[in-house]
Amino acid sequence: MTDRSTIPRHLDGNAAAGEMTQLFGSDITNAMGTCRLCGHRAAVGQTRAYVDGPGVVLRCPDCETVLMRWATGPTTVWLEMPGLRSLEIAIEP
Ligand SMILES: [Zn+2]
Repeated sequence: MTDRSTIPRHLDGNAAAGEMTQLFGSDITNAMGTCRLCGHRAAVGQTRAYVDGPGVVLRCPDCETVLMRWATGPTTVWLEMPGLRSLEIAIEP
């Protein structure tokens, strides 16, 4: 039997790129997020993504605060961004 306690549960935020594109209408893995708790600034694609639950959770790679989480139902998406101070999304001029 495999010892699951030694297997990291998280991937990087790029693992959720497809779902984020559905939510935001474009790829935001290069958007820069700032953690509300520790001030760490990183690209969304560099966050820690937990995708093995009923929804997706993105955590700060520095302090593990929940930055974003969402769950998708048949007709609704529930989205929270409790740990984000800001999210900088580049737009085309
Ligand atoms: Zn943090």
